[in-house]
Amino acid sequence: MTVVEAPIPSATPMPRHSRQAKVSWGDRVVTVGGDAPVRVQSMTNTDTVDAIGTAIQVKELALAGSELVRITVNTPEAAQAVPYIREQLDRMGVDVPLIGDFHYNGHRLLTEVPACAEALSKYRINPGNVGKGEKRDRQFGQMIEAAMRWNKPVRIGVNWGSLDQELLAGLMDTNSLRAEPWDAKQVMYEALITSAIESARRAEQMGMDGRQIILSCKVSGVQDLISVYRELARRCDYPLHLGLTEAGMGTKGTVASATALSILLQEGIGDTIRVSLTPQPGESRTQEVVIASEILQALGLRSFVPSVTACPGCGRTTSETFQELAKQIDDFMRAQMPIWRTRYPGVETLKVAVMGCIVNGPGESKHADIGISLPGTGEAPAAPVYVDGEKSVTLRGERIAHEFQALVEGYIEKRFGAATPAQVD
Ligand code: SF4
Repeated sequence: MTVVEAPIPSATPMPRHSRQAKVSWGDRVVTVGGDAPVRVQSMTNTDTVDAIGTAIQVKELALAGSELVRITVNTPEAAQAVPYIREQLDRMGVDVPLIGDFHYNGHRLLTEVPACAEALSKYRINPGNVGKGEKRDRQFGQMIEAAMRWNKPVRIGVNWGSLDQELLAGLMDTNSLRAEPWDAKQVMYEALITSAIESARRAEQMGMDGRQIILSCKVSGVQDLISVYRELARRCDYPLHLGLTEAGMGTKGTVASATALSILLQEGIGDTIRVSLTPQPGESRTQEVVIASEILQALGLRSFVPSVTACPGCGRTTSETFQELAKQIDDFMRAQMPIWRTRYPGVETLKVAVMGCIVNGPGESKHADIGISLPGTGEAPAAPVYVDGEKSVTLRGERIAHEFQALVEGYIEKRFGAATPAQVD
């Protein structure tokens, strides 16, 4: 027999060691890094010149749970639209910082359209897309000067699709002189990290506060992302924005992002995340926010929406009742969250179970705050409901779904309705 000498420790994500940056707009601040929660980011895909359309999509992303929203700023017209987008958001009461995504001409736009520079809460600078040779340093410097002038943080966001080719060529040359040259992939990793860290150091040498700098080094391969971010986190303590670039569509993009981000987040690496999902035709842009939030919630790092535990169903379930009920409850709670977030502080920690038969139904329902065990094939047509681990009522008939939803609402009102934020952990 095995002698047990110590309890099995529960798995928890390792602590993060980054410094903290502040992203502010008006009198509002979102902290990134340090002991701040890992933040969810997203990016619009509207034409920024369409200020109303962009403001509406930013609102949708914010309501879905995005805590920072990035918009493309690629032309003078887009830059001029930025203050109007901010104004629209403020008018609609949308409390989210706007980040400007700049490539090629950011130095000009931030200098020539000061209202844009002022309205944004953070600038994303891609050091691979700020020019070549002498121009590169000068134009990068102009963007840093704008950030310092307006007291804005920056994200130095390197991407392997637009890596600084001069830097890469130099590292390739150095590599060829090694007694045992690294393979091309390792040189590329080094170039990504060097580009990010050297750019950050250059910004600090210009006088920028190091706490105003966030870094990212995005690649599209899961193993590549893990390798690069482990090394990046080892070499610096800037807050890190994490994401698989060009993750792809649907299941592939979702699984690849969840796999890569989860491994790094579990190791304490990553202070903000984005799931760069290609929307399926007709799919809402907010899907990338839902997935990013689900990754953080599944890891136990954050709670955004009440969770629904549902069994997969099997030969013991001959109807789709429990699948429909699980979906109905999940959809209902997600739709209510914009209101519930303020009305019921702490409701995002609620656990609901919707189970298909007696095998695991009562047990799983007892583990949840409120759960229902629907009747499987051959079972009596009754659905016991468990509240806080105890059997509460048994539902029967055609209106089980409606009645269970009412019970969930009643439970939420009773448990979270009277709470104040201070009372809820
Ligand atoms: S709880 Fe019942 S219906 Fe659901 S998967 Fe298990 S055995 Fe099948």
